[in-house]
Amino acid sequence: TEAALKRISETDERVKAYLLVVGEQAMEEAKKLDQLPEGELPLLYGIPGAIKDNMVTRGIRTTCASKILSNYIPPYNATAVNKLQDNRFVLIGKTNMDEFAMGSSNENSGFFSTKNPWDLERVPGGSSGGSAATVAAKQVPFSLGSDTGGSIRQPAAYCGVVGLKPTYGLVSRFGLVAFASSLDQIGPFTRTVEDCAIVLQAIVGHDPNDSTSANVEIPDYLSALTGDIKGLKVAIPKEYFHAEGADPEVLEQVRNAIRVLEGLGATVDEVSLPHTKYAVATYYLLAPAEASSNLARYDGVRYGVRAEGAMNLVDMYKKTRSEGFGPEVKRRIMLGTYALSSGYYDAYYLRAQKTRTLIKQDFDRVFADYDVIVSPTAPTVAFKSGEKIDDPLTMYLNDIYTIPVNLAGIPAISVPCGLVNGLPVGLQIIGKAFDEATMLRVAHAYE
Ligand code: GLN
Repeated sequence: TEAALKRISETDERVKAYLLVVGEQAMEEAKKLDQLPEGELPLLYGIPGAIKDNMVTRGIRTTCASKILSNYIPPYNATAVNKLQDNRFVLIGKTNMDEFAMGSSNENSGFFSTKNPWDLERVPGGSSGGSAATVAAKQVPFSLGSDTGGSIRQPAAYCGVVGLKPTYGLVSRFGLVAFASSLDQIGPFTRTVEDCAIVLQAIVGHDPNDSTSANVEIPDYLSALTGDIKGLKVAIPKEYFHAEGADPEVLEQVRNAIRVLEGLGATVDEVSLPHTKYAVATYYLLAPAEASSNLARYDGVRYGVRAEGAMNLVDMYKKTRSEGFGPEVKRRIMLGTYALSSGYYDAYYLRAQKTRTLIKQDFDRVFADYDVIVSPTAPTVAFKSGEKIDDPLTMYLNDIYTIPVNLAGIPAISVPCGLVNGLPVGLQIIGKAFDEATMLRVAHAYE
């Protein structure tokens, strides 16, 4: 904990991974843990970690990087945070993100943007950019992020660390501030696949406080890391290698990684996920639709900031929301309310739901014959700050490889696979629902 805080004080002025560092509290907790208990130590005993600022932490400000929550102090912990605490981790602080997790670059934070530790002129990715950057900058050995359309995997790729999005329902969403409830999942950032398996083990499990939490048997993830993937069946989706805007050098690194898997004894075949081309459009209807409903609760009454000087109730709502939300959040609320409005519902929301099913069926078909699907995590390496911020459509297209996984509810991990122009590339390994163990085994064997 001491080393983590020292490293943060040395580097975070440049990286800006944190919205809040709770140094004193962390040292207090760490000192308590110096007194070792009898018997076997819990999984994360004394290990410092950071939490994305959209997971509530009791008594510790939680803002979602939004001005509208800039004064919000939650009275309870997210289940994932409680589980880390049960395993005796030390909370170091809350990491920066795109406001309400909407974005792919961290530039939508309502406060400031986190920088990529590999090149401070570049974005760390998003929306969990702070959680990726803090692990990459070796400030902490692990952090938690959330992934609705790629927000763990894409920043993990851009920052050269490991990031895992679990199967929908494996990790409780209780206390994760809702963006798009049918897509959101919490997952770990770490530097190695082994660490990733340890953190995952700590946060999974059924939670009666989350109605979408799955009641499934939890395997021992560490013992899945055998190093042996002989005979495993790997599928390569051909659509992912012809995606618009994909950097050929990134694809080359991914092809090299696939050859490594072959060298380890896996069999590799090309497959088709024919509805891939609809994924981005489907996501950018469904996610804003859910967000527009979820964000209705920020009305200046129940949570966070209330605007001054309003003349009446409606005026107070308007002023609070106009001043409190940033431009991307407003764009999503407008897109979402439009898609859900009567008269347009059938044409947009309903159609997107049907397409979502087709995308899920694409994966079901492939997973009937294969153990994992392998692809790039993102079409490029980390881009320059400012490069895409004025062009939301290009920014949205960046999510092409990650979004289908959320729509299907299945797990995926991003592991570093080489460099292009000195910047890290991410390899995405997609698993069957609730088969994180096989996915981790492949990632570990490759690493
Ligand atoms: N980039 C995507 C978006 O802006 C994904 C965000 C996320 O996963 N939270 O919606």
